Amino acid sequence: MGANSITTIDVALGARAYPIHVGAGAIECLGDVLRALDTKGAVMLASDDIVAPLHAERIAGIVRGAGLNCGVCTMPAGEPNKRIAQIDLFIGEFLKAGLDRSSIVIALGGGVVGDVVGFAAASFMRGIRYIQIPTTVVAQVDSSVGGKTAVNHALAKNIIGAFHQPSTVIIDLDFLKTLPDRELRVGLAEVIKHGVIADADLFAYMERNVDSILAKDLDAIEYPVRRSCEIKSAIVSEDEQEHGVRANLNYGHTFGHGIEAASNFTVFLHGEAISIGMCAAANLARDLGMVDRQFVARQHACLAAYGLPTAWPEMPVDDVIEAMRHDKKVRAGTMKFILPDRLGHVVHRTDVKIAQARAALAAVRTA
Ligand code: NAD
Repeated sequence: MGANSITTIDVALGARAYPIHVGAGAIECLGDVLRALDTKGAVMLASDDIVAPLHAERIAGIVRGAGLNCGVCTMPAGEPNKRIAQIDLFIGEFLKAGLDRSSIVIALGGGVVGDVVGFAAASFMRGIRYIQIPTTVVAQVDSSVGGKTAVNHALAKNIIGAFHQPSTVIIDLDFLKTLPDRELRVGLAEVIKHGVIADADLFAYMERNVDSILAKDLDAIEYPVRRSCEIKSAIVSEDEQEHGVRANLNYGHTFGHGIEAASNFTVFLHGEAISIGMCAAANLARDLGMVDRQFVARQHACLAAYGLPTAWPEMPVDDVIEAMRHDKKVRAGTMKFILPDRLGHVVHRTDVKIAQARAALAAVRTA
């Protein structure tokens, strides 16, 4: 595909199947990707106002080098801008640039850009094609794959959205060189999660390679990013719209969402809340006799080694429980917990008593 050491993973979704190209320098394959998609007319590169000044010009140059016109539009960076008004603004840019149903939009950025641009592409002219070029670890190992697109409403996160699969995902590890350390760490929480839910070897790799991964050694980062994409794409291929196994990816999220909501989304980044949520979930699994103390300690140590929070001493436990009861994933009043029964494997439990969830949370106040 024109660049060295690039791996391609196929997301097997029949008519909506697509490749994920992963590797340092993978962006060089963009021209070939656009040709393979038989791109005609204008391409729109959509990003945020932090990523665009760092990386947009080079990518627009690759598009133009492939003989295509390339517009560039940006949104203000950050979760508060992931809202319906931004869809309106992006669609105005698409119309001004003359995009039509055969056009392609490129989402360049973290999960916020991917979710917003993906939803704009899903709704513009009832759906046009888009390419994901994720630039954070969160986006590279999680949000760019799987086709969930959404914006937030004032009353609920990710509540306005659509399933709209990208046409291709290009994961270039070089983008991570400009990523702030805290953003690197929150993405690694999702990688550790993938190890716990699906791959004990990936988890062990994360334990062994802390220093090189935190130092952004791209040779060390390639395997966990690629392996995470393989795990996510296998799950998505089996259960695109989350009727079953896709919920495994929500390990740590029932507690994590409660923690985010109870802290008004101001104390923790998402991956930090998930890290604490994974600790609470492991405590719960131990209390239910599903894993032993050593499992809990091992997961705790791995998260802590990456500088992720494993405790919240000031946690208002009742507020977290209350927020968990109102989470959009709670169906008919039943809270579903994704819990490990061994490293690399999880099961769904809907029989957890509130008192048990409360005890598991209370234990992470002091852990
Ligand atoms: P983000 O998109 O807000 O990016 C974090 C920050 O890093 C931003 O300020 C961004 O401008 C900056 N940034 C991005 N790439 C950079 C780079 N290479 N160099 C320097 N700065 C860079 O946050 P995120 O953690 O990537 O994504 C979080 C969002 O993803 C949330 O809105 C969440 O709901 C969503 N998400 C979606 C899915 C899904 O399946 N659709 C899955 C997980 C998360």
